[in-house]
Amino acid sequence: MKELYNKTLKDYARILLACIGAVLIAEVFFGIIKLAAGDFSASKFMSYLWIKAILPSGLNVGIYFVARGVMESPNVKLETKIYATFCSLDAMCLITTLAHRDFPSLCAAFILPVVTSAIYGQKKYIRFAFELGIFGTLISFAAKFALGRGDDFDVATYVIQGYISILVLVISLFIAMLIRRFVENNSVLIEEGLENQASLKDRVKVDAMTGLINHTAFYDELDNQIRESDRSGEPLCISVVDIDNFKSVNDTYGHANGDQVIITLAQIMSDVCKGHIVCRYGGEEFSVIFKNCKRKEAAALMEQVLERFRTTEFEWCDHAITFSCGVCQHYDIRTTAEELFMQADKYLYRAKRGGKNQVVSEG
Ligand code: GH3
Ligand code: MG
Ligand code: MG
Repeated sequence: MKELYNKTLKDYARILLACIGAVLIAEVFFGIIKLAAGDFSASKFMSYLWIKAILPSGLNVGIYFVARGVMESPNVKLETKIYATFCSLDAMCLITTLAHRDFPSLCAAFILPVVTSAIYGQKKYIRFAFELGIFGTLISFAAKFALGRGDDFDVATYVIQGYISILVLVISLFIAMLIRRFVENNSVLIEEGLENQASLKDRVKVDAMTGLINHTAFYDELDNQIRESDRSGEPLCISVVDIDNFKSVNDTYGHANGDQVIITLAQIMSDVCKGHIVCRYGGEEFSVIFKNCKRKEAAALMEQVLERFRTTEFEWCDHAITFSCGVCQHYDIRTTAEELFMQADKYLYRAKRGGKNQVVSEG
């Protein structure tokens, strides 16, 4: 966020410089037109250039360098830098309106800091820029009254011009407030969107029924753990579990009871294999990634899970429900997650062929 503010301030400084250039060009252009129209003699043109163009532009360039120094200084607070942008733009407007007192419509320039203040989305900046604008407009008009009253000075026109300038400033205040509210609402929407995205991402990784990570997240985890094990040299094992004769559990006792079996096994596995990564691989199949764990240890943990599971009594079932399990260790640095899983799966089917209700590991 701070970076975004600093980038905006840098762009702002560039815009200030462009404004000075544009005003100078307009002033010189105006003088040339007057010269061509015969309103200016050559000497009047030169004094016009000095007083109305070069001198104010020189002052504006000075303000620009001071403002840039403040904006780029690492010792100045961000808030002060933002206030400095309004002050510098206002000071430039003031110099330009004072130099061209014959053009009271130039006071409309004081709306620029007010409207720009809205991008920061805070009322305090808008209020400050507005108050600064009112101050600048009043000074400009007071200066015209004190210094620039020519023969054609008309009080009524002068008051109307002052009134219009203040009115335009007030309108710019309302517009700035409107933009601020829009910026605020928009950032709330963006934040909500990011939060939803993050929670959606998390939900996509988790199996809703058991709360375990799902098949996709399992392979991401296994990839990471294989890399970590190859790097650290710590042993890594996986187990693959498949509930025995589960189809007949469903057929005999119904799917709701079948679900209860799946949830119960997930709880037992999470409990016994705490500190390791338990996953619901699919339907009635589970897998565990054993971090920093040797094959014998992993097989012993799976034996514990099997013992607790087969001795769990379901009131609607008159026999023990069991599972078969294959366990293997990751040895070869070239083995991929899929290959490691296939090895464990091979032991699982050996367990099935061997009569189910058992843990089979290599070796
Ligand atoms: P085996 O001992 O060879 O593994 O036999 P099995 O009957 O367990 O194997 P099979 O793959 O034929 O059946 C698995 C069954 O698991 C089929 C499917 O209806 C059931 N199943 C998969 N997911 C769920 C689930 O979320 N809830 C319930 N209740 N049943 C599920
Ligand atoms: Mg199965
Ligand atoms: Mg099965």
